[in-house]
Amino acid sequence: NGGASDAKNLRVKLVLLGDSGVGKSCIVLRFVRGQFDPTSKVTVGASFLSQTIALQDSTTVKFEIWDTAGQERYAALAPLYYRGAAVAVIVYDITSPDSFNKAQYWVKELQKHGSPDIVLALVGNKADLHEKREVPVQEGIEYAEKNGMFFIETSAKTADNINQLFEEIAKRLPRPAP
Ligand code: GDP
Ligand code: MG
Repeated sequence: NGGASDAKNLRVKLVLLGDSGVGKSCIVLRFVRGQFDPTSKVTVGASFLSQTIALQDSTTVKFEIWDTAGQERYAALAPLYYRGAAVAVIVYDITSPDSFNKAQYWVKELQKHGSPDIVLALVGNKADLHEKREVPVQEGIEYAEKNGMFFIETSAKTADNINQLFEEIAKRLPRPAP
């Protein structure tokens, strides 16, 4: 069917948002290629990758992933990427309270300007750096709960919870009628 969504095969636009340096590109690389490259380059503008996963009920979900640049000078472009997105993954770095504040800014932006039925996920990345943690896990949990978001802590470096992140998002997607 030309790649459109049907009851068994969903195609969803997903956008990653968050401060520069929180690990958005590494999360995507880990999910799509199973790799972690500590020398990965800064994203310019945005980049696009896709990955399909199969769920237990034999449906498949093809994620069309827009990985945005976090820098201020690209902020005006963000609506181009989140407009029409079915999913927004908002990422912060658990060692950076600034990045957690920035994540809250993105949540508000998406609540105002995103699709009304958008699935929002809040991700605390770099969970492997627990000795440098500055954002308690409870803060992430509570903020996400208040805002009706799915929450998870991940590590693109160790791969911890990366597949789980996308599987949990897939389970929360609105399904087209069979
Ligand atoms: P982006 O700007 O949000 O796309 O961030 P990048 O994916 O480019 O990552 C920024 C930096 O954080 C890089 O030096 C990565 O190696 C590092 N990084 C990304 N994810 C993790 C992680 O889970 N753990 C650790 N320790 N470092 C990470
Ligand atoms: Mg990047």
